[in-house]
Amino acid sequence: MQVAAYATQGPTDPLKPFEITRRDLQPDDVLIDITHCGICHSDIHSARNEWGRAKYPFVPGHEIVGRVSAVGPQVTRHKVGDLVGVGCLVDACLKCTACHDGDEQYCEKGSVGTYGGTEPVIGGPTYGGYSKQIVVRDSFVLKISEKLDPAAAAPLLCAGITSWSPLKHWAVSKGDKVGVIGLGGLGHMGIKFAAALGAEVVMITTSPEKGADARRLGVSDVLVSNDREQMKAHRGSFDFLLNTVPVKHDLNPYLGLLARNGTMVIVGAIEPLEEMHGGLLLANRRSVAGSGIGGIAETQEMLDFCAEHNIVCDIEIIDIKDVNPAYDRVVKGDVKYRFVINMATL
Ligand code: NAP
Ligand code: ZN
Ligand code: ZN
Repeated sequence: MQVAAYATQGPTDPLKPFEITRRDLQPDDVLIDITHCGICHSDIHSARNEWGRAKYPFVPGHEIVGRVSAVGPQVTRHKVGDLVGVGCLVDACLKCTACHDGDEQYCEKGSVGTYGGTEPVIGGPTYGGYSKQIVVRDSFVLKISEKLDPAAAAPLLCAGITSWSPLKHWAVSKGDKVGVIGLGGLGHMGIKFAAALGAEVVMITTSPEKGADARRLGVSDVLVSNDREQMKAHRGSFDFLLNTVPVKHDLNPYLGLLARNGTMVIVGAIEPLEEMHGGLLLANRRSVAGSGIGGIAETQEMLDFCAEHNIVCDIEIIDIKDVNPAYDRVVKGDVKYRFVINMATL
């Protein structure tokens, strides 16, 4: 079927109206009328080919919320009218050990990304959520509580799960001191989740003016990362650091903040990093790790936790025609804290 979308034709081209082909509904497929789609920094890295893997035309968007408008005959978990979400994954083998363990994002056969992957039925690239409708295998469709505002829930599908998954994997809980590095889309959700899990949370930022907001989101302290005295005062004190910095940077000043057995998890920079000092790692038996989005079951767990604790993202809603200037504002760190596109404007 033909579906209206927004696409870019090359790394320096703006996003413009474009028509895409979605596969016909397969027996285990769900057709979703998209109402909202968040703008993740990954959309921008990908549209501008900053990771060198882009295929054009490119339709971004992997923070998708909408209503089910049709289901295939084998679908039992979703029905027409349900409020649902789709994140960064639309398919995986569901048979390998990783899939079996609920880590579909690390599928040994390769998971299929919502955009930029290979369409498993009709071939060609997968196209993301800056579009009117999407067809997704039922196992990759998440349930969203009617209690949540659908627009503010959209960024949970990537920014939410990407910060939730490492907090759960490293079992962050009451008594832990957690630092969230970078107050953007991922970072503001990292603060909300770590605080809701009972941790003491500190914002580590390059933007002191975001301090008051960070306190409103749940931090007990704000640490300005380019202030040497402030960094020194917190040296060796953090059990866990969630590093959302979206570009190559020097990890060493942050490594020094970790307490004994502390871990810093990289979720932001998907590119070569600057050299790390081995001495900083072995002192205090520190670890540096990475984490990619999250599996389907834990995404559902996170969405249910949000419904229970009334957690959503802080958003600015925009019309689709304003998507290009919104990209520039995200790159400047000028958004509180996620743009969400109202898809009714497409
Ligand atoms: P974002 O909204 O742009 O936020 C990033 C924040 O990092 C900025 O607000 C800024 O916060 C800080 N920052 C920016 N440049 C910096 C620099 N040079 N040095 C230090 N801090 C800097 O981005 P996002 O949507 O949260 O995404 C963050 C990154 O995660 C992106 O690279 C994205 O591609 C990646 N990502 C990864 C996954 C995954 O699976 N691991 C999933 C989604 C996104 P302050 O002003 O507070 O310093
Ligand atoms: Zn994303
Ligand atoms: Zn698999």
